[in-house]
Amino acid sequence: MLDDIDLGRRQRILIVEDVKLNAQILVNALKDTYDLRVAHNGVEALAMVREEMPDLILLDIIMPEMDGYEVCARLQADPNTRDIPILFLTALEGDQNEAYGIELGAMDYIRKPFNVPIVKAKIRNHLELKRYKDILKRDSRIDGLTRIPNRRRFDEAYAEERERARRNKMPLSVLMIDLDRFKAYNDTYGHLQGDDVLKLVAKTLYHALRRPGDLVARWGGEEFSVLLPQTDLLGALHVAERLRSAVYDLEIPHESSHVADVLTVSIGVASSMPNQPWSYDQLLQWADEAVYRAKAEGRNRVVAYEYARDLSN
Ligand code: GH3
Ligand code: MG
Ligand code: MG
Ligand code: MG
Repeated sequence: MLDDIDLGRRQRILIVEDVKLNAQILVNALKDTYDLRVAHNGVEALAMVREEMPDLILLDIIMPEMDGYEVCARLQADPNTRDIPILFLTALEGDQNEAYGIELGAMDYIRKPFNVPIVKAKIRNHLELKRYKDILKRDSRIDGLTRIPNRRRFDEAYAEERERARRNKMPLSVLMIDLDRFKAYNDTYGHLQGDDVLKLVAKTLYHALRRPGDLVARWGGEEFSVLLPQTDLLGALHVAERLRSAVYDLEIPHESSHVADVLTVSIGVASSMPNQPWSYDQLLQWADEAVYRAKAEGRNRVVAYEYARDLSN
């Protein structure tokens, strides 16, 4: 997701300005430094943003069809575009209009007629800020869509917990959770609704965990991972079953599933064996294999990795 931001590339600016001459002045001033796109009205601007996310938008206020305030409000209302800095281009006088634009979420103003050195300086400053924010976002340990820990955070926690558990000969378990037939869900209900389901499932899993050390992360795509310190196989199976039924009980309609008429998950469970120190390093792989079996056996079920299960019997 955020890992594919290329922070070394030329930054992209979308210029939205209905007067061709004004747009041309900006293009001439900026074309050597930035990748530029030009839209001549608000509707066109929104379409271009959807097609290719700019790093910054220069937005005229008075335009036919849809004015800059409206464009700004719409971009702010969408979580995917909310973080793009907007600088209004204005010939309007007076603090009231500035205040209104800032309230809508704009970063700053650039006044007409343009003073090119000021225009360049403001843009450079805001783009620099944008780049830092992108780095922060990329490096943070929270998944952007679901707001639960991401895989990086999970990996860190797992590394820490497995050393602690191995040292103290304490049990440690990992769950891998995969949404069943989720491609079909997107195909039937649309990707945006799919995103909403991922958020709801994440929240549900998060709240279904009870112990302070338990951690659920978005592993990637439609997969979640759970770390259960001081939990043996029996306990982990118990938690897994609780998570499975919590998702089932959401009763999210999924008519193209073939598994049930609601959204379901398959869960793989893997637990360490305190007398086998190497087993602590195998948990991700084992949980993954167990999920694979849960799928093969019909989905909407919890399956423990064989080896661990044999040993616990
Ligand atoms: P299975 O029961 O075998 O797991 O089937 P599946 O369709 O869930 O598995 P598959 O790996 O074929 O497809 C996973 C789908 O998850 C593909 C993609 O459409 C969806 N997906 C992955 N990430 C996201 C996301 O961030 N948002 C949405 N809406 N869908 C996603
Ligand atoms: Mg105008
Ligand atoms: Mg999957
Ligand atoms: Mg799946």
